[in-house]
Amino acid sequence: MQSNSNDPFELMHMIELRRDLHAHPELGFEETRTSQIVADQLAEVGIEVHRGLGKTGVIGTLRVGTGTRAIALRADMDALAMPELAERDYASKTPNTMHACGHDGHTVMLLAAARHLARERNFSGTVHFIFQPAEEGRGGAKAMIDDGFFERFPVDAVYGLHNMPGLAPDEMAVVAGPQLASSDSWEVTFRGIGTHGAKPHLGRDAVTAAGQFLLALHTIVARRVDPLQPAVVSACAIESGDFRALNVIPDTVRIGGTARAYSAAVRDQLEAEIGQLAQGTAAMFGITADYKFLRRIPPVINDADATRRALAAAQAVTGRPVVTDFPPSTAGDDFAFFGAAVPGAYVWLGNGPAVDGALHHNSRYDFNDEAIATGARFWSTLVQQELR
Ligand SMILES: [Zn+2]
Ligand SMILES: [Zn+2]
Repeated sequence: MQSNSNDPFELMHMIELRRDLHAHPELGFEETRTSQIVADQLAEVGIEVHRGLGKTGVIGTLRVGTGTRAIALRADMDALAMPELAERDYASKTPNTMHACGHDGHTVMLLAAARHLARERNFSGTVHFIFQPAEEGRGGAKAMIDDGFFERFPVDAVYGLHNMPGLAPDEMAVVAGPQLASSDSWEVTFRGIGTHGAKPHLGRDAVTAAGQFLLALHTIVARRVDPLQPAVVSACAIESGDFRALNVIPDTVRIGGTARAYSAAVRDQLEAEIGQLAQGTAAMFGITADYKFLRRIPPVINDADATRRALAAAQAVTGRPVVTDFPPSTAGDDFAFFGAAVPGAYVWLGNGPAVDGALHHNSRYDFNDEAIATGARFWSTLVQQELR
């Protein structure tokens, strides 16, 4: 696959490849086909390929000149376990698996930039192209880091990018500070003493305790967290009793949910407050509570210096002013694990208007191929500017 000066990013090839990936989505840690394609596309232009980090992860390394600075650019490769309901000729051929977050586009844009840079070799330093598995809640970034990413590929900075409907495909948003929230899970099990529904005084009612707990849960954000600090606490699952036994007060009630914050301090506070409320409520009702807080993903907080560099690259490639006041999202991205280890910046690239109202994780969502050129140009310009 050759490129020429009119088509430095092999756009036709990349659109074809993007649609091929879209038609063959793979779930986290199962990206065997995708990672093989990525490895082949990198090797074809002479990029050093490392495989097996985080099972299906791929690292492409490109060293040019004598520059000692090294940076990493990260794309995610995985799809979601959901059906694709839109009719398009490249719709998913795999049942209940779909690229509904645009990671097919992320993969292709980073490939396009890597191949361009490998041909042009117009920088001095080292770039590691990270093709990460399992971003969608399966822990791909952490798995790559646990497999020694930072020891094997030391870097001075790391960058990530996500598509964003609502911004134009030649529009980017680059903002310093918090971008994405921490995403943690919690679980409380209230343990009372089950009894006859007609004789509540002979037991200890965990169901009523759970009701009190659920109402009080929302006082954590309203009354305990600094009002100027965003936070979310939601109960999302509840399990107790049996609808075939409506005369039985059950022994236990299990409640689970999510907690989100944009700073380490508020994240710690949510963990402590939910537990304290569970224990306090249990004590009030003379029962006990088990509490678990599972730390999944830290917040994505853009480093000021890395953000300035990303902004300069975005300003050089987009056809319009870069958005610098884009609001943070309460979603999470495990890019946070890379960005927590070295200075990092996570930027947004427009995906055009939401077609039929479909946003990320909607069964009709699709990455916009018109954004490939902007994304590929952004990545390659960032490398050329960072590694002069
Ligand atoms: Zn997603
Ligand atoms: Zn995503």
